[in-house]
Amino acid sequence: MLLTISTTHNPATDLGYLLHKHPDRYQCFPMTFGEASVFYTEANADKCTAALLLDVNPIDLVRGKSKSSERSLEQYVNDRPYVASSFLSVAIAKVFSTALSGRCKDRPEIAEKAIPLTVYLSVLPCRGGEKFLRKMFEPLGYQVTATPLVLDEKFPDWGASPYFAVELQNTIKLADLLSHLYVLIPVLDDDKHYWVGDEEIEKLMRHGEGWLNAHPAREQIANRYLKRQRRLTKIAIAQLVEEDNLDPDAIELSHQQEEEVLERRISLNEQRLASVMEVLKSSGAKRVVDLGCGEGKLLQFLLKESSIEQITGVDVSYRALEIAGERLQVDRFSTAQQSRLQLMQSSLIYRDSRLTGFEAAAVIEVIEHLDLERLAVFERNLFEFMRPQRAIVTTPNVEYNVRFENLPAGKFRHRDHRFEWTRKEFQTWANGVAERFGYGVEFRSIGTEDLAVGSPTQMAIFTQQL
Ligand code: SAH
Repeated sequence: MLLTISTTHNPATDLGYLLHKHPDRYQCFPMTFGEASVFYTEANADKCTAALLLDVNPIDLVRGKSKSSERSLEQYVNDRPYVASSFLSVAIAKVFSTALSGRCKDRPEIAEKAIPLTVYLSVLPCRGGEKFLRKMFEPLGYQVTATPLVLDEKFPDWGASPYFAVELQNTIKLADLLSHLYVLIPVLDDDKHYWVGDEEIEKLMRHGEGWLNAHPAREQIANRYLKRQRRLTKIAIAQLVEEDNLDPDAIELSHQQEEEVLERRISLNEQRLASVMEVLKSSGAKRVVDLGCGEGKLLQFLLKESSIEQITGVDVSYRALEIAGERLQVDRFSTAQQSRLQLMQSSLIYRDSRLTGFEAAAVIEVIEHLDLERLAVFERNLFEFMRPQRAIVTTPNVEYNVRFENLPAGKFRHRDHRFEWTRKEFQTWANGVAERFGYGVEFRSIGTEDLAVGSPTQMAIFTQQL
């Protein structure tokens, strides 16, 4: 069984420090069930790939078992030596224990940083198929490529197997990536080689810290990880729910990821950002505020546009702003760049004098997160108090929801949406606002236009009338 981890972070050989394994050395680690070895298949400044090769010996597996238990052929002949399973998790915890805990003596700043990482698993059993695999990793931000493996190439009639060759890509801290693998590989395999007891809850909590409680499939993960032992699963979920109450931002972010997954197929997000950028550029605005900037996707585009001199990202969620800061790598900014971009925590339903004096405001996929009864307060705040020359507001077109295969009828795209409007509802609202506050308004659709239900996203461009 082979697992490789690659990075293109520069210099890529820093991976050696992060994993605490020297790229020039081949190292062997005895395990109770076989042997693990670590070596590098490439190691230069542009790319570095570390390989963990796990050799599971089925004879070793049987050896420790009590004599009274019946020995079947399956105990000797099975898939365990060839597939990623809980044995691999044990090997990761042993061989990469320092990296898994997020410590790094020589390069502590890189251990703390999200870097581009690609994982390749030669054979990963996925009970529940590719859909389940994606359900596990996509909410955590991974790009998943799965190649199904046939049972036997010589006998195509035997059909597909539950095994996949899997590539996972993400920009993420190495410790987070290792903890995702540690928990999710056995969950996908849905089989564990050891007895599951109370101490497994502790392991799940420890390695799931910071992500499991916000994962949309956390119950399923806990259930499978704990081998479907209802008592243990109940305790684990109770602990996760307790954590929930502490971190509402984390839940919000996970919900946002769900929405992204749903819309990804048509790369709606990119189309939306491109349309917004086009309007902003043509307006010639030099001072732009992104209200409800979330993780900073629009800010990233704004920064690339040299004609824009002042950029401010505002969000009510501190965690979202933290992620935006990491994504934009603000810690690497020069003094000039630092004064060009501000990130601030503020709510759109309170007046904040820092938010006046902008030529253009973007409110992208935000209004549907506000309670309908607060919308009037937001309107006055934006169009009367901040009063930019131009405001761009986008929101989902609820009519289009029937075109999303994975979205049950009547459900919104995101669990935090307080409402989703039809085209008529949005236009009625926007026309009313424009009239009340002295703006002109123009509508555009974003995403593929469907004859019957329109496009997935609707946009209103408000321009102040002189
Ligand atoms: N504009 C971003 C994020 C959209 S998600 C994008 O297009 O990717 C909605 C965002 O609005 C979230 O980050 C949420 O934290 C933020 N938000 C919700 N209510 C808010 C409020 N009252 N004030 C400021 N931001 C708010």
